[in-house]
Amino acid sequence: MGNVDEGITKPEIAEEFRGCSVYSKESCRTCFARFYCSGGCMANSYKFHNTIHDTYEVSCEMERKRVECAIMIKAALADEEQ
Ligand code: SF4
Repeated sequence: MGNVDEGITKPEIAEEFRGCSVYSKESCRTCFARFYCSGGCMANSYKFHNTIHDTYEVSCEMERKRVECAIMIKAALADEEQ
């Protein structure tokens, strides 16, 4: 996007990031974890798909499992309190 000497030299990159979110990624639209995850790592998306507007499925699997486990733990703790 730029550097400390010259400042921002490629403002179009900032615009691209501004337009990238959980709402703009096709694979996030039906994902139950979308509001916990918020669309995943853009760097991983870029590394594996050459665009920030995609997701990295390995990370998605891990994120969904983390959310599942967190919900299970919360439910178990709620059961103990009763
Ligand atoms: S886990 Fe993957 S598909 Fe689901 S919201 Fe996160 S990045 Fe999107």
